[in-house]
Amino acid sequence: MKNNKSVIINLLESLREGFKSAKIISVVTIAFSLTACTSTSITPQLKTNSETLKVAIPDNQVKPKLQEAAKTENLTFTVPAKYQAKTLYQVEPSNKEKVIALTVDDGPWPKTTLEMLDIFQKNHVKATFFWVGSALQENPEIGKRVVAEGHAIGNHTWHHWYRNMDEATAKSEIERTNDLIYQTTGVKTSFFRPPGGYLNNGLAAYAKSQKNSVVMWSVTSADTDPHAKYQVFVKNVLRDAKPGAIVLMHDGGGNRYRTVKALPEIITGLKQQGYRFVTVPELLEMQH
Ligand SMILES: [Zn+2]
Repeated sequence: MKNNKSVIINLLESLREGFKSAKIISVVTIAFSLTACTSTSITPQLKTNSETLKVAIPDNQVKPKLQEAAKTENLTFTVPAKYQAKTLYQVEPSNKEKVIALTVDDGPWPKTTLEMLDIFQKNHVKATFFWVGSALQENPEIGKRVVAEGHAIGNHTWHHWYRNMDEATAKSEIERTNDLIYQTTGVKTSFFRPPGGYLNNGLAAYAKSQKNSVVMWSVTSADTDPHAKYQVFVKNVLRDAKPGAIVLMHDGGGNRYRTVKALPEIITGLKQQGYRFVTVPELLEMQH
């Protein structure tokens, strides 16, 4: 009897051990598959890095440092002294060079921003995106892609309010957005565009107090017109384009499928007119 009992106890013990190891096995399996997932996503990045290093290091020791500096500069959009605390509509290139800056407001936005990025990439065009903080909060990954593809970034406030604001509210609208842009993408920007182009509600005044450039536009696609066909957006831009112009369009704040349709024709038409595309920071740098 006593023996039988101990046999049963022993059996129960080994069953319990069995369960324990079964559990351990499944935990190990899960851990392994997590590691497998992680390493799959990391591998291409590591590969790219080592390839870059292979190319860079044999050249000389200085080159990687220069590349690093260029990379950092790329993420910081500073305003040349003569444009700090100024409102800017367009620039007159000193040599009348046919350069033009496309600007895209109110994103990052699902679908339309990505479609516009594809069009820009295919046509080797760099644009300037003015982001709404609350939209970036919703779509951080889209924002990261915009930056990774070399476009310039400006601040377009957190809420996209038009109303009059006291200084504390204006400061919060702009700085909260700057903070999120930096946290999400590493970008620091001193370019600001007031929502609706309103210059007297407190926002532009605060931006100027921070030596930002207040960037308006000289050409509008008028793509917020709810009734116009997309061909009208194309016509508006091609008709009003001038050397040093800043062109307004939108990727967010509503359904911008017509802007997406217009964009390839806008780019092709401007190229046919002989224009080269630059970002707003690049446009200002050309005026030195
Ligand atoms: Zn806007």
